[in-house]
Amino acid sequence: MSLANKLADERRARLGAERLLELKQSELSAANRKLGRHALALTRQIGETQAEVATVRDENEKVKSDLTVAHEKIEIAERRLWHSIQTIQDGFAFYDVDGTMIGANTAYLGIFDDLEEVLPGVPYARILQLLTDEGIVNTEKLAPADWRAMMTERWKSPSPEHIVIRLWNDQYLKLIDQRGHGGDTVSLALNITATVRYEAELKASRQKAEAANRAKSAFLANMSHEIRTPMNGVVGMAELLTDSELDEEQQLYVNTIKNSGEALLVIINDVLDYSKIEAEKLILHPEPFDLERCIHEVVMLLQPTARDKGLDILVDFDLFLPTRFVGDPGRMRQVLTNLVGNAIKFTSSGHVLIRVTGLQDRGDDFNIHITIEDTGIGIPTDKVEHIFGEFNQVEDDRNRQFEGTGLGLAISRRLIGMMGGSVWVDSEEGKGSVFGFKVTMAKADGTEAEPPALPDGLQRVLVVGSQSLNRTILEKQLEQLGATVTLCSSGVEALETMHDGIDLVITEHTMPDMDGFELAEAIRYRKSPDLPVLLLSSNPGFAQNDPARQHLHAVLQKPVSRSELFARLIDLKRQNTRAPEEKIVPEPFADDSIPAAQPELPKQVDQPRLMRVLAAEDNKTNQLVFRKMVKALNIEIQFANNGIEAVEAFTEFQPDMIFMDISMPKMDGKEATGEIRKLEAVQGGHVPIIALTAHAMDGDSDAILAAGLDYYMTKPLRKAAIHDRIQKHSPDEAQPIMPLEN
Ligand code: ADP
Repeated sequence: MSLANKLADERRARLGAERLLELKQSELSAANRKLGRHALALTRQIGETQAEVATVRDENEKVKSDLTVAHEKIEIAERRLWHSIQTIQDGFAFYDVDGTMIGANTAYLGIFDDLEEVLPGVPYARILQLLTDEGIVNTEKLAPADWRAMMTERWKSPSPEHIVIRLWNDQYLKLIDQRGHGGDTVSLALNITATVRYEAELKASRQKAEAANRAKSAFLANMSHEIRTPMNGVVGMAELLTDSELDEEQQLYVNTIKNSGEALLVIINDVLDYSKIEAEKLILHPEPFDLERCIHEVVMLLQPTARDKGLDILVDFDLFLPTRFVGDPGRMRQVLTNLVGNAIKFTSSGHVLIRVTGLQDRGDDFNIHITIEDTGIGIPTDKVEHIFGEFNQVEDDRNRQFEGTGLGLAISRRLIGMMGGSVWVDSEEGKGSVFGFKVTMAKADGTEAEPPALPDGLQRVLVVGSQSLNRTILEKQLEQLGATVTLCSSGVEALETMHDGIDLVITEHTMPDMDGFELAEAIRYRKSPDLPVLLLSSNPGFAQNDPARQHLHAVLQKPVSRSELFARLIDLKRQNTRAPEEKIVPEPFADDSIPAAQPELPKQVDQPRLMRVLAAEDNKTNQLVFRKMVKALNIEIQFANNGIEAVEAFTEFQPDMIFMDISMPKMDGKEATGEIRKLEAVQGGHVPIIALTAHAMDGDSDAILAAGLDYYMTKPLRKAAIHDRIQKHSPDEAQPIMPLEN
């Protein structure tokens, strides 16, 4: 090879190498550049990572410090909580689900008298054991093992009942255990010693008060007896004295003694009743009774006072309301007597109107409203509530002239309250008052007097009376029976108005110018000889003696009761317009509670033996009073001084009836009656035994009747009532007990 070639080859090789070198160099610089970029990116990445690390580090620091703060807070809260728990005077402890103590405050641990064993970690069962073993708890009637069993049983319950335990030192703890989260139990041991002591003191005081109350009731019962017995003597003797020959002055003295004695008895009864209600000793005795009759009985008793004052007493008993209900008639009578009595007492002119309305409620129950309206002095508005308080009266000059205890309304309100009703009053001073009450009573079984259907010949009725209210009530009642009613305010007007179309005249007794008798006479002679005339009188006994009575068909007691009116109308219906040869002068009520004015005349007079009456009474004065009271009767009387003598006399004397004092020495009236009833069980017969009692306390009447007595009378005894009783039991074979004098 040539040199040139060699050179050319070398140049080519050099060129090639240079090109390769260039290539490699550019590759190198590209790689360098790439490396540089890479390094840059890396550096940036490192920077970022470093920043992130710094942030995380910062955050960590913050969390760390937050945690420290939270820890501190928790520590403070825990310290405070524990401090609080420690401060509580009552015991506080926690137990875990296995009943192991987790913690307890000092008060809780103190219960165990600092027993070292009682610490967190001790099981509940061991605590119970220690309580009994160390005598810390007083297990009372339970044996220690039984007590522990009972407490363990309780502990196991999902929600243990609160329990009170007594410690050795008479401290009382109430244990309250509450299950918490995960079966933990929070136990509280509250010291309730003060409350227990207070309750015990209260109980003791209540027992003391009840004992005092019982003593008071017993005292009242005795007082009732002790006062009533001599008062019986005073009032009874005074009554006898009034029948004897006395000059005017003596009569006045005697009447004063009698009236004062009776007034005193009313006060005693009021005070007794109120005390009984207060002591919750008063019990109602519901039984079927006739409300209308009850009202009329009250009116009859109060009629004389009203008549003396010239007051009209009117009764408007809803004609279509039943009259027989189930209630306590005695207490109803008491309330009515008080309200009607007050109305009469505080009214000097005008009227007293008793209105009874009612609506059927549910089943046999009726809501009954009774109002007593008067035209008296009225009650100032600001005193209306006051007068229902005990011993409260309206204190003013007008009122002071009236006697009273101020207990009547208080008693009435309480009695009506006991009946489930309420009392109210509406009054205008100077004009009058309306006292009202409502009670719900069931209708009693049995038949009611049906309103009669007026026959054709009796349908046109002329009502004559000066009292418009009275006329209106009658008009309403008669119209309800289907009558056509003409009203006249005087006899003269009646005579003018009267025409052939009138079938019946009902007239008032007392009227100005021409009274009822004169009207009847005028009708008889000038109008119609056959026209039936009924007279309404507040004093039928008096009316009976008037010669003009022959012109009347009947004299009716005013206010006329519904049943009485019905009876008379039925009577007339029967007789229709027959000539009035039979005069009907009604005895409105033959009830025991109304003393009959005259004992009935006996029908037979030819029997030889006298009626035998035995009176067992230990008090000599009362014996004397009794003897004098029956002196006028044609009977044989024998006295027994005690129960034993009474039983002996029953066998020897064979009385037809016995008056039996309840309270007697040696053997009381109830026992004596028991003995007599035993004898009768063997030998047959049943002698009527009438209890004489001075006791007004509750339960007496029941106890008396339960002891075999047939009836009871409360002292002081009334002559008329005794005569009436004797008359009722007078046997047919005995001589009539006709009064020799009266
Ligand atoms: P007492 O009638 O024994 O005083 P009450 O409790 O029955 O006791 O009555 C209390 C008072 O209420 C009477 O004193 C009287 O002031 C007043 N009062 C009661 N009823 C009436 C009445 N119908 N009209 C006027 N005042 C009456």
